Amino acid sequence: MHELSLALALIEQIQHIARRERATRVRSVTVRVGALSGVDPEALAFCFPLAARDTPAETAQFILLKDSPHRLCLACEGVFPGGVQSPCPACGSGNTCITGSDDLFLHSLEVV
Ligand SMILES: [Zn+2]
Repeated sequence: MHELSLALALIEQIQHIARRERATRVRSVTVRVGALSGVDPEALAFCFPLAARDTPAETAQFILLKDSPHRLCLACEGVFPGGVQSPCPACGSGNTCITGSDDLFLHSLEVV
């Protein structure tokens, strides 16, 4: 399962940070998931506690923030929300492309 390996990678990153901060427990974990990342947020939320077992993040609250797609205007470099091809609201250029929202990353961590 793709999401389990992602959860395990997150836990590895979290453990590294927890060690660095000399934290004994992770209270919450916030992860941003892009709409176009190919990650199933529900599957990731299901896998996280399995991956976190026997780690400082075992009882952590898992918070998922879903990023909606944005477009980058190649003419004026403006960024605006939208997943489908549409003209730039600032300059009207049709020369836009999808930006961001295709990734998954650890946004923040609350440790004690
Ligand atoms: Zn523009």
